[in-house]
Amino acid sequence: MVARVTPTNFPRAFRLKARAKLPEPERCLLHLVEHLKEREGDIRAQGDAFAVTLPDIYGWMWCEDGLLQVDVGSRDAETAYFVRTWLDGVFRHLAGTETVEIEWKENWSAGRLPPSFSILKVERLDMLTSQMVRITLKCPDVTRFDRTDALHVQALVNFAEVTAATGEERPPLAWRRYTVRAVNVARQTIDIDVFLHGGGGLGARWVSQLRVGDLVGVAGPSGGSIGLADHYLIAGDETALPAIARILDFLPRQCGGDVLIEIANDAERLPLELPDGFKLTWLARQDDTASALEGAVISALAHKAAEKTFVWVSCEASIASRLRKHARAAAERDHFDHLIAGYWKR
Ligand SMILES: Cc1cc2nc3c(=O)[nH]c(=O)nc-3n(C[C@H](O)[C@H](O)[C@H](O)COP(=O)(O)OP(=O)(O)OC[C@H]3O[C@@H](n4cnc5c(N)ncnc54)[C@H](O)[C@@H]3O)c2cc1C
Repeated sequence: MVARVTPTNFPRAFRLKARAKLPEPERCLLHLVEHLKEREGDIRAQGDAFAVTLPDIYGWMWCEDGLLQVDVGSRDAETAYFVRTWLDGVFRHLAGTETVEIEWKENWSAGRLPPSFSILKVERLDMLTSQMVRITLKCPDVTRFDRTDALHVQALVNFAEVTAATGEERPPLAWRRYTVRAVNVARQTIDIDVFLHGGGGLGARWVSQLRVGDLVGVAGPSGGSIGLADHYLIAGDETALPAIARILDFLPRQCGGDVLIEIANDAERLPLELPDGFKLTWLARQDDTASALEGAVISALAHKAAEKTFVWVSCEASIASRLRKHARAAAERDHFDHLIAGYWKR
């Protein structure tokens, strides 16, 4: 085995190691590599291992002793916690119907809940459209959410089930990510706008069963800043709408750009306040397989903006993956920064 050379700026404070017994570990390793590339990870093969760099994370993945092994370092316990949650989900997905044995080792005392976990109370529920519900949560330490460099939270969508369970029978924790749409410091509340897709997922089910006064488990905020630029191309579907609205609230007034939002139909439009230099286009989804957004973003990328540009797109994962390839090619030609994220998977 080639010695793994770790860069000196490797974030070591929180170290996580995993040894997973999976069917066909070599195939699983390549699958994991592909997964991480999708997440904009920088992956380099070194001998028989792969080095991975993601914002705030550095790590290694390799196969040894018939096991898929991972060694990750991150700067904070919160990131380390969700890396572990994410890896656990990927390992179980890769194992399919087979049982997976995972041995975890951490250099910190990893609790069952992330360090920032807090329990908030539902103060209001408002239907913004037939498919978008606003959850207003009472939040005594509201200022922690009032940041433009960390826009999202993780919601524990089986909170009621987890708290009702006793002893050994506690179910695994199920997290879903949502954007903090608004922070009201005076009222000590945050708003989360959730798109109720018809897929019957855990997140959609959790929201449709919520009542005023219910308790909600939330971790964060984390992730999701946007780079500084003079010109922006901002695009997404309904799940990205809360993030787009929040971003438009804090972008400097002197910049400009284009905003493209794909929705199922006109009834899903939400009032958006745009800085003067921005132009908003609502796109109607033709059907579940044809994305109007994809074509519109590709054609926008074909035109070079004169100013320093940032491209931000969030939408369904396979569309995001194709758009990322276009954005990378266009960025090489026109030198702009971009962030293309898959917010959900069809
Ligand atoms: C950083 C980030 C921020 C996000 N912010 C928000 C937000 O503010 N508001 C918001 O509503 N969503 C947001 N999302 C997306 C949200 O997390 C997913 O839509 C959600 O996880 C779906 O969870 P689920 O349990 O309901 O469905 P899953 O269990 O994930 O999926 C169940 C089924 O539903 C389908 N499905 C899932 N999501 C959608 C969808 N959006 N449209 C159509 N079909 C779908 C899937 O294809 C699958 O068949 C964000 C995601 C990320 C990564």
